[in-house]
Amino acid sequence: MIESSQPIDISRMRIEVPPHPQWPPLNDRQLRQAKSRIRELLQAQNAVLVAHYYTAAELQELAEETGGCVADSLEMARFGAAQEAETLVVCGVKFMGETAKILNPEKRVLMPDLNATCSLDEGCPADEFSRFCDQHPDHTVVVYANTSAEVKARSDWVVTSGIALPIVKYLADRKEKILWAPDKHLGRYVQRLTGVEMLLWQGSCVVHEEFKSVALERLRRLHPDAAVLVHPESPESVIEQADVVGSTTALIRAVEEMKNDTFIVATDGGIFHKMRQLAPQKNLIEAPTAGEGATCQSCAHCPWMGMNAIQNLEQVLLSGGNEITIEPAIRERAVVPIQRMLDFASTHM
Ligand code: SF4
Repeated sequence: MIESSQPIDISRMRIEVPPHPQWPPLNDRQLRQAKSRIRELLQAQNAVLVAHYYTAAELQELAEETGGCVADSLEMARFGAAQEAETLVVCGVKFMGETAKILNPEKRVLMPDLNATCSLDEGCPADEFSRFCDQHPDHTVVVYANTSAEVKARSDWVVTSGIALPIVKYLADRKEKILWAPDKHLGRYVQRLTGVEMLLWQGSCVVHEEFKSVALERLRRLHPDAAVLVHPESPESVIEQADVVGSTTALIRAVEEMKNDTFIVATDGGIFHKMRQLAPQKNLIEAPTAGEGATCQSCAHCPWMGMNAIQNLEQVLLSGGNEITIEPAIRERAVVPIQRMLDFASTHM
C-alpha cells in the first residue's frame, strides 16, 4: 500500500463524544399517537422526512410511511434535491442537513437536533483544513461527505463511500494528485484499491474505529459460513477480513443477494432494521467492538445519530426551530463539488 507522504496529526484535537441520548421509551399507544401527529404536521407543512439507515427503526418506518426516504448519504442528497416539498426534515447528522440545504437553498431544512454532528466532521476544522490545502496547491481536494459546509466549500470534489472509488480512479486516470479528507481508513482503502498516492487527513469515525480485528477472527471461527460485511470507515485489519466492503447501501444489498444464511456486520447497528425488513430469514450478527483496547465510546451505535428521536422530531415540526442556515458565499462554493459528484453519479453509475 502506498502511504501518504505527509500524514496530518490531528491527535491533539479533542473530540467530545456525547453520551448516548436517553429518550424515554414510548409505549405502543404513545408511539402510534406521536406518529399520527407527526404525519399531520408533515402534511400541513408540505414537509418530507429524509432519514439515514443509522437512525432509530421508528424514524425509518415513519419516513417510508409518509412518502419520505431512508437511504445512505448519497441517496439522501439525491432524494432531497428531487422533492417538491417546501420543507425537508433530515433525520441524521448535521452534515446531511447542510448538504440538503446546499442543494436546496429555497427549501426550509429542519433537523431534530442541530448538535447531532459526526467525529469526522468535528475532526476536520475548516481553518486548519484550508491551511493544509494551501500547502499543497497542486493537489485536487477530495472530501468525504462527512464534513462541514465550509470544508466542502474548500474542496474540488465531494464523495460518499458509495462513489469514492470510481471518482478517485477517474481523477487518477487524469494524472491528478489527490489530497483526501477526513477519514484515514476510507482513504487508505481507496489508496490500496486504486494504487493512487494520496495525502491523507487523519480523521476517523468513532463508531467504525471500535471494531476489533482479533475478536472478529474469533467470531468468524464460530460462524465459518457467515459472510463478513464491512464499512470502509473501519480499520484496515477489519477490512482485510471482509467478504464485502462497501457503503451502507452495498452492505444491505449483500444481505439481500448473497446466498449465506448468516452475516457478521461491521457498521452502525441501525442498519439492521433495513436488513431485517429486506431479508427477514437471514441471521445478522454485530461485529465485535469489545476486546483488547476496547474503549467502547460508541459500541456500534453512533451517539450523534441517536440524538434523533420521535419526540424531538415532533417538537421541531411544532416549533419550526433547528433550521439549517448556510452563509450564501459558502453555499455558492460548496454546491459546486457536491453537484460535480451528483453529475458524475448520474453519468457513471
Ligand atoms: S457513524 Fe461515524 S461517520 Fe457516521 S455520523 Fe456517526 S461518527 Fe460520523
